[in-house]
Amino acid sequence: MTRPIRKVVILGGGTAGWMTAALLAKVLGPVIQIELVESDDIGIIGVGEATIPPIQQVNAVLGIAEADFLRETRATIKLAIRFENWGAIGDTYYHTFGAAGRNTAFCSFHHFWARARKLGFGGSYWDYDLNALSADAGKFAPTRGNDPVWDMPYAYHFDSGLYGQFLRRYSENLGVVRTEGMVADVQRAAGIGDIMALVLRDGRTVSGDLFVDCSGSRGVLIQQHLGTGYEDWSHWLPCDRAMAVPSERFEHTLPFTRAIAHEAGWQWRIPLQHRNGNGLVYSSRHYTDDQAAEILLGNLGSKALADPKVIPFRTGRARRQWNRNVVAVGLSSGFLEPLESTSIYLIQSAITRLMHLFPHQGITPNLTAEYNRQSQIEMELIRDFIILHYHANARWDSAFWRDLRNMDVPERLARKIELFRSNGTLVQDQYDIFLEPSWVQVLLGQGIQPADYHPLADGPSDDALRRQLSQLAELKVRPLAQLPSHDAFLQAQVGQPV
Ligand SMILES: Cc1cc2nc3c(=O)[nH]c(=O)nc-3n(C[C@H](O)[C@H](O)[C@H](O)COP(=O)(O)OP(=O)(O)OC[C@H]3O[C@@H](n4cnc5c(N)ncnc54)[C@H](O)[C@@H]3O)c2cc1C
Repeated sequence: MTRPIRKVVILGGGTAGWMTAALLAKVLGPVIQIELVESDDIGIIGVGEATIPPIQQVNAVLGIAEADFLRETRATIKLAIRFENWGAIGDTYYHTFGAAGRNTAFCSFHHFWARARKLGFGGSYWDYDLNALSADAGKFAPTRGNDPVWDMPYAYHFDSGLYGQFLRRYSENLGVVRTEGMVADVQRAAGIGDIMALVLRDGRTVSGDLFVDCSGSRGVLIQQHLGTGYEDWSHWLPCDRAMAVPSERFEHTLPFTRAIAHEAGWQWRIPLQHRNGNGLVYSSRHYTDDQAAEILLGNLGSKALADPKVIPFRTGRARRQWNRNVVAVGLSSGFLEPLESTSIYLIQSAITRLMHLFPHQGITPNLTAEYNRQSQIEMELIRDFIILHYHANARWDSAFWRDLRNMDVPERLARKIELFRSNGTLVQDQYDIFLEPSWVQVLLGQGIQPADYHPLADGPSDDALRRQLSQLAELKVRPLAQLPSHDAFLQAQVGQPV
């Protein structure tokens, strides 16, 4: 199809819809018209409150100051996820956004650390990671601009409802038109099959050239009308339900997410300024909803503020994220469970990709094929990273964990694990949002120790290595004394007690 794209219609006003509207309006606003249709009767999913550091780029592109963002969305800082009971019951490790130690030109820090461990010293890998040290101390302030060894990358936890409203105000200010109404049907172009207009329940129509389907797991355009099909990944990621409930905040807000494994699933605890977000992700073959509610409500640590809400889901992806003149963004494009907080990032990445490949002179097969190729690889790489957490477990307490340990994993992941296990090597795939420090932390945290290390780590003598590591640990810990508590940082930013 070669029709120029003058008007983009976004269906859905959840995080995906309003992020798409805000970014498109900011970047392409001068050359396209944007209309967003959402139904107040349906509402939004209302979860999705933990992010990863690229969210800062969204704020930077939109020109949103951090203090405004923190105030408006009641956000807190996220330095890491703390995984509890994942390797074996009682084990705890961080997947931080930082990097341990300091790499040399051809040899990553973990090889030196692995050698030290063989020699009987070196302590914990996380002793060399400022994010982990600050998370443990409950402290935070941005450290960028100092010595790079003190870089402390971070993300946010925010209230998803407030975030959507914040982006809605932003988008409407830039001229995005919002139409409230329920889409009941669509008009298709004769012969070609492209969508020409949305037809609302009351008979109004909203026409456009390109449609972004942000209608959530319903996939109103991409699935219900275009029948794109879905690739199911639940044989690798068997959790298919979540139960979410807010609870009262604790006295101090932690600067990290907690991911606590249970017998057949795991629980998140996300600290916000005004409340905690909690949820249990579980397998319906192993837990009934009543059992899930008992586990979740019994492990909140503070008073529940609402009744728990059940959210069924199916892990997988739309077979094509871009089909005809519809691009699926957000839950309509697929869903990987929330273990590594990647869905909001995938929204950001999808919009960025769409802007790079924007079909201003018309949609061509080459553009859609390239878009779909990149989207597929990106999602598969995240899928593999999440599978790793489940597969490399040392839990013997339930069939759930035993089955996951014994399952066949995707070939690319199996190769990655074996390579790391044999000599600590990691291969960085293009489009993988998780870089070497993330993989190393989760592999080590889940109990996979490399049998060997890179020969360059044999460079220093035993004594020199011991000295280097202790100097590095001391260097990493040094900024802590200067950092305020996480609560004090937030209070200074938002201008009121948190
Ligand atoms: C249990 C759980 C936990 C999660 N945790 C995280 C997390 O920590 N971090 C993270 O990054 N992501 C997380 N996610 C994912 C995250 O919630 C979503 O990616 C994000 O909220 C985007 O959702 P959405 O906008 O695609 O869909 P929704 O929020 O469902 O919005 C859909 C929109 O479409 C509209 N709509 C639907 N049908 C019609 C129709 N016929 N007519 C008109 N309007 C219609 C609705 O009104 C709504 O506005 C989680 C998801 C789940 C299920």
